[in-house]
Amino acid sequence: MITFEQAIAAVLRAAKSLPPAPTPVEQAVGRALAEDVRSAVEMPPFDKSAVDGYAVRAAEVSPGARLRCRGLVQAGQSYKGRLKPGDCVKVMTGAPVPAGADAVVMVEETAENGGLVEFSRTMRSANIARRGEDIKKGQLILRRGTVITISHIAALAAAGRGRVKTGALPSVALVNTGGEIVPAGRPLGKNRIYNSNGPMLAAMLRTDGINAAPLIVPDDAARLRAALAKALESDIVLVSGGVSMGDYDLVPGLLKELGVKKIFHTVRVRPGKPMFFGLKGKKLVFGIPGNPVANFMAYLAYVRPAIRKMAGRPDYAPLFLEGACEVKFDPRTPRRAMVLSTVRAAADFSLTPVANNGSADILALAAANGFTMVPEGGALRKGEKTKFISWL
Ligand code: AMP
Ligand code: MG
Repeated sequence: MITFEQAIAAVLRAAKSLPPAPTPVEQAVGRALAEDVRSAVEMPPFDKSAVDGYAVRAAEVSPGARLRCRGLVQAGQSYKGRLKPGDCVKVMTGAPVPAGADAVVMVEETAENGGLVEFSRTMRSANIARRGEDIKKGQLILRRGTVITISHIAALAAAGRGRVKTGALPSVALVNTGGEIVPAGRPLGKNRIYNSNGPMLAAMLRTDGINAAPLIVPDDAARLRAALAKALESDIVLVSGGVSMGDYDLVPGLLKELGVKKIFHTVRVRPGKPMFFGLKGKKLVFGIPGNPVANFMAYLAYVRPAIRKMAGRPDYAPLFLEGACEVKFDPRTPRRAMVLSTVRAAADFSLTPVANNGSADILALAAANGFTMVPEGGALRKGEKTKFISWL
């Protein structure tokens, strides 16, 4: 009987990455990039006003100074001609700054009267986002192998990409065996139980981007053979139940008839000792014992890592982190035990600001995994505690 580690290693050895495919960026979260993505454009693509205000020559602005307003530019349009001395042009946030202007005064610091604009203070900042200051044309946005997260999408889209080449997700067929299994929502009937594994595995698959509808099949050789033959059209077959030593545990025998090569059938772990894994060509077949906890554990230990490896993700290995036991764990089994537990994160989080060019800086967003809360008008000392929000 092989060890838990050997079983995981055998599954990962068998899982081969699928050919990459183009994916719409809004569907790419969780996918591994199969290309270096470079920006097709500069960001911003022109000198852009960062505020609603008046484009000016900064040297002409002082408290009480007046300039004649020569026009209004909204975002998406531009001012024809060059700003002349003594003039200003009203510009909206996101509009190109007219040639000849070197600053934009916020509208809040002005008063307009009969086409003359009076300023209440000297210039403090230019309020112009310079062409290319966030992203240069051809700049590397995300490297091949990056697992795309929600904070990467804006950067990919701003770089001009509607689709990116990513690792492809395997198709998965989900089969729940057992004459006692009934889908939730139906009357239960005598001697029956509701299908827990089907919805649970379908939900777990969805967290990995895969849609699969559970199919319930009774322990009847002909019907089960037909269902498994059909399931073998998918890249991964996920069968629950019917893999143990009972008289009606027909799955391993039928899989053999269907040309599936057994890699292992028992693992020295609890839960999940009867645990069939086989291959038909590049197709992976998992036969998990019916107990829902065994299904849950098998998904985390074998199925998700296999899916991620097939999808080209570098972070495919099951994530085993270290923690400390609060009480004695005594599972009383000679096998390796995986004991259902509660986990508390006790260690502190450390927060560091990401250098950025302001709220249009999507590369800073892509480099970040949280927002740290700083109180009104305040700063935070090193070591000070504050709130943060994270999405990873
Ligand atoms: P088996 O591996 O088929 O011998 O099933 C082991 C136990 O898990 C039995 O008590 C089954 O009734 C139960 N079981 C099997 N499949 C499911 C399922 N899809 N949902 C909930 N329980 C199940
Ligand atoms: Mg069964």
